[in-house]
Amino acid sequence: MSARAQIGVTGLAVMGRNLARNFARHGYTVAVHNRSFAKTESLVAEHGDEGELVPSESMADFVASLERPRKVVIMVKAGAPTDAVIAELVPLLEAGDIVIDAGNAHFPDTIRREAELREHGLHFVGSGVSGGEEGALNGPSIMPGGSRESYEVLGPILESIAARVDGVPCCTYVGPDGAGHFVKMVHNGIEYADMQLIAEAYDLLRLGLGASAREIGEIFAEWNTGDLESFLIEITADVLAHTDAVTGAAFVDVVADRAEQKGTGRWTVQNALDLGVPITGIAEATFARALSGSTPQREAARGVLVAGTSDVPVTDRAAFVEDVRLALYASKVVAYSQGFDQIAAASAERGWGIDRGAMARIWRGGCIIRARFLDRITEAYERTPELPLLLADEYFADAVGRGVPAWRRIVARAAATGVPTPAFSSSLAYYDGVRAERLPANLIQAQRDFFGAHTYQRTDRAGTFHTDWTGDRTEHDA
Ligand code: NAP
Repeated sequence: MSARAQIGVTGLAVMGRNLARNFARHGYTVAVHNRSFAKTESLVAEHGDEGELVPSESMADFVASLERPRKVVIMVKAGAPTDAVIAELVPLLEAGDIVIDAGNAHFPDTIRREAELREHGLHFVGSGVSGGEEGALNGPSIMPGGSRESYEVLGPILESIAARVDGVPCCTYVGPDGAGHFVKMVHNGIEYADMQLIAEAYDLLRLGLGASAREIGEIFAEWNTGDLESFLIEITADVLAHTDAVTGAAFVDVVADRAEQKGTGRWTVQNALDLGVPITGIAEATFARALSGSTPQREAARGVLVAGTSDVPVTDRAAFVEDVRLALYASKVVAYSQGFDQIAAASAERGWGIDRGAMARIWRGGCIIRARFLDRITEAYERTPELPLLLADEYFADAVGRGVPAWRRIVARAAATGVPTPAFSSSLAYYDGVRAERLPANLIQAQRDFFGAHTYQRTDRAGTFHTDWTGDRTEHDA
């Protein structure tokens, strides 16, 4: 076996297969391997004409077919399968080789694996890859972590197969060890929030206007020509226009209202709780999926919990649609602002040095949250790299500010008419919370001091204090 392949892919299910084809189509000689050889054979049989594929049945032959330093992309099921493949690979590799985990690993696993492989003199690159199977084939958004040294070798290859927007590849070095998979995790969390917000907008339009799926699809198609232009809005219009072949009804009307999840939203929220970063939009989106699947609870509530709603007729349909659009845009900015706060907090805690503007840039193409307004986010971080709050950037403060009255009308209307809008409502509450002159946390802190002697600070002088609540109620320095 001559060592001639420039890159290898092991794990040839939908993602690995398409990634291998993408490399081959870009002129790379690609070593391909899968646990069960049948997938390798079918890839070569069906797509061998697209470029240079070098199939191997054994891992040893696969490794032997790679030129040094070897670059091996692992694209298998996340979790234990990834560890199993790494364990098989490591004894076959040599110092300086690069192992790339392009699956959806949880970032603490990536941190652990990077440290373990470093002990062997190997580079471990945990890389987020977004865009599903279509992206893997035609250009994904790629978020590689690991050593800078490995990016010198690997970066140009990954950049050449990534999506491009305005000639700029949607791939850049993210940061050490788990940074790439962390950013991919937050990307997915933002994706959850974006999808939930779109779903709430759909529900508001459906119930407020009594509009059909097709009519709402037309509204989304129109929205996709403005500030909201994005892949998710585009596919929403497409999905809403689709007719079910079996019943002839609108497709969405025959789909069960239970949303599933694979876990990246949950990881994002768990991590945000650890960091103490309020990512309320992503959390509400994750819980909304959980609520949709809470079948016994929903059955117990149906017909039992009174609505107590008021009838608020829509008098001006066009004005209502515009209000929903503005509320969606504002809520979406909140979700992104919160997600970027989470990236900043993790980056500071772990010393990752993540450039948030660059993350927005590599999300402009290839990935699920690709959107026109990511350019505005990049510009905001270019203006102020250490921007503490994206929402307060001059562009976004102004863009969201113009929609605030509409946002309030929509959330108030949703509450009055009984339309569940957890993401719209919590985003507005966050907006009001973060801009408040004074929050009621003063009372919380006083309560904490009362029952737990947790102390408090005063607004009128420095220091930490405790009041003797059970005694004479005098105040002491704590
Ligand atoms: P998948 O269904 O997650 O995994 C199937 C692949 O894993 C097969 O190649 C399978 O080999 C291999 N595998 C499973 N257990 C193994 C083990 N113990 N040892 C060796 N190989 C093992 O495949 P996928 O949908 O293509 O996704 C691959 C990765 O990309 C996952 O981490 C996924 O989360 C991530 N991802 C997927 C998407 C998507 O849209 N599907 C998008 C982004 C990221 P056999 O053929 O021998 O069973």
